[in-house]
Amino acid sequence: MKNLGYYNGKIGLIEEMSVPMTDRAFYFGDGVYDAVMCRNNIPYLLDEHIDRFYHNCNRLSIVVELSKSELFSTICSLVRMVEGEEKFVYFHASRGNALRAHSAMPKNGSLCIMITEQKMGDIRLKMNTILVPDIRYELCDIKTLNLLPSVLVAQRASIDGADEAIFQRNGIITEGSHSNVSIISNGKIITAPSDCHILPGVTRAHLIKEARSIGIMVEERPYTIEELLEADEVLITSSSKMLRGVATIDGEGVGGKNPELLARLQAIMMDNYLSYTSA
Ligand code: PMP
Repeated sequence: MKNLGYYNGKIGLIEEMSVPMTDRAFYFGDGVYDAVMCRNNIPYLLDEHIDRFYHNCNRLSIVVELSKSELFSTICSLVRMVEGEEKFVYFHASRGNALRAHSAMPKNGSLCIMITEQKMGDIRLKMNTILVPDIRYELCDIKTLNLLPSVLVAQRASIDGADEAIFQRNGIITEGSHSNVSIISNGKIITAPSDCHILPGVTRAHLIKEARSIGIMVEERPYTIEELLEADEVLITSSSKMLRGVATIDGEGVGGKNPELLARLQAIMMDNYLSYTSA
């Protein structure tokens, strides 16, 4: 198949699948999601993404009928049905199906999976970004389907010819619209603390682990717009982008002052990805 959609056990091409109007994802965005890259039919770090997914479901009392290991093996068998060497696996659970009422609490959630061919691309290519006010709420650590502010700023970035929008809240950098943002400054990595204002990214966690393993200090603390603009390198991490440097913010050049460390971290992370997913 060229792509695959799954909905509560039904499988088909994404563009031919349909979802009942009663699904609470449809009118409330009442659900959570996760996503992984996959190479040679091996989903990268799937365990960690599934752990975060069930953690989010539990926080919202969303019941996924499959166990963690059942979801793991379902995803692993579905990816084999889709053509391509590199793929993107997206999965979400909504609270389930019921007539529209804010307070409705259906017993079981609905599970949706989408698999498409997607390449990691050249991670050495730097990204252009814009800086925007963080107009989101206090639940940014939950990977909810409610992404309206992120969608709006990502669209703004795209209209402005940029690849990502970086959120700032009262002068403090939180994260990107669909990525985490960190900086390299004086040989150290500085990254926003894991609290209710950022998603605890799986890639961010790996960056922290790999950096510390080679003796690079990592400070998890709030940092300011000024620190971002003056950083030696600005880093974007996400499952689909891995680790990228940032070339511009609002059209002005940033970073570029410690390309050796950026390239070293990228090499370590890319090696991990390639070895984990080698057939
Ligand atoms: N923050 C936000 C808001 C995101 O949407 C994402 C990607 N889904 C990330 C951070 C990066 O998370 P991960 O590294 O787990 O893909």
